[in-house]
Amino acid sequence: MKRIRFWGTRGSLPVALTASGVRDKLIRALRAASGRSFTSDEDLSTFVDSLGLPVAGTYGGHTSCVEIETGGPEYVLCDLGTGLRPFGQKAMARHGPASPQTYHIFMSHVHWDHIMGFPFFTPAYIPGNRIFIYGGHAILDEAFRRQQAPPSFPVDFSVLHADIDFVRLQPGHSYDIAGMRVDLMLQRHSGESYGYRFTSGGHTVIYTTDSEHTLDDLEETGTYVDFFRNADIVIFDAMYSLADAISVKADWGHSSNIVGVELCQMAGARQLCLFHHEPIHGDDALARIQAQTQRYEEITPTGTQLIATAAYDGMEIEL
Ligand SMILES: [Zn+2]
Ligand SMILES: [Zn+2]
Repeated sequence: MKRIRFWGTRGSLPVALTASGVRDKLIRALRAASGRSFTSDEDLSTFVDSLGLPVAGTYGGHTSCVEIETGGPEYVLCDLGTGLRPFGQKAMARHGPASPQTYHIFMSHVHWDHIMGFPFFTPAYIPGNRIFIYGGHAILDEAFRRQQAPPSFPVDFSVLHADIDFVRLQPGHSYDIAGMRVDLMLQRHSGESYGYRFTSGGHTVIYTTDSEHTLDDLEETGTYVDFFRNADIVIFDAMYSLADAISVKADWGHSSNIVGVELCQMAGARQLCLFHHEPIHGDDALARIQAQTQRYEEITPTGTQLIATAAYDGMEIEL
């Protein structure tokens, strides 16, 4: 594995930066620039980069879709949220319609926010493309077909001309797919979800979203810690604050950043990547959560140093 690329990082439903949000960022940037002069575009770029993501960028609003670049010729994705559409556009621009590709897609589960990008995935309409959709659920096939059935969508699933195979995976078994060892585990979530452990070339990536961790049950916690063991990156559902997660939103099927730190520390993981962001949270709130997460790691240090990042649409992590 060479690189992780985030195409969609938002939980539950897509959100967009609004006109007033852009205006607010411009005012803050101009305020920070007041009294300065810039002699080149490079100067300007350096200054803009120094402003930080909440002012000079945005976490983005596409729902879950993460690409794992394996270094091989085949594509690997986790989940098919709206981030799939820009991924598909990039793949089409790169290969065109005449050069068939293979896509391996690992599904956490089939809640809307994780499948809603698929009807807009251009490579699925092109004969010759191979698409493998893996997951632990028996109803994978049905959920995808139902999403495109009338009256919910104008184009039926049967109109997709790529070769699409649904492949059911079993927790407790290891699979060799696209040059990676793949393991999965059942997670606590309404309708159930599956987390994945991908290992190849000495690197381990965990994709665990839509999963509620309570830390109440020692045995259950131990199972997750074993699953996360020594991972380079844990892409983690940190939708709620700890206060929400243990009070009003207990049993809603998601976790907090603090629980993420504790599980990663126990597992000796090196990077916790906060993911599946709450749609209500703006860029400042997400940056604050990321900083608080890093701070929590710093005041509770363990043997392995843990880096806390917050995923944004377009972010890449080199392995
Ligand atoms: Zn979700
Ligand atoms: Zn869900």
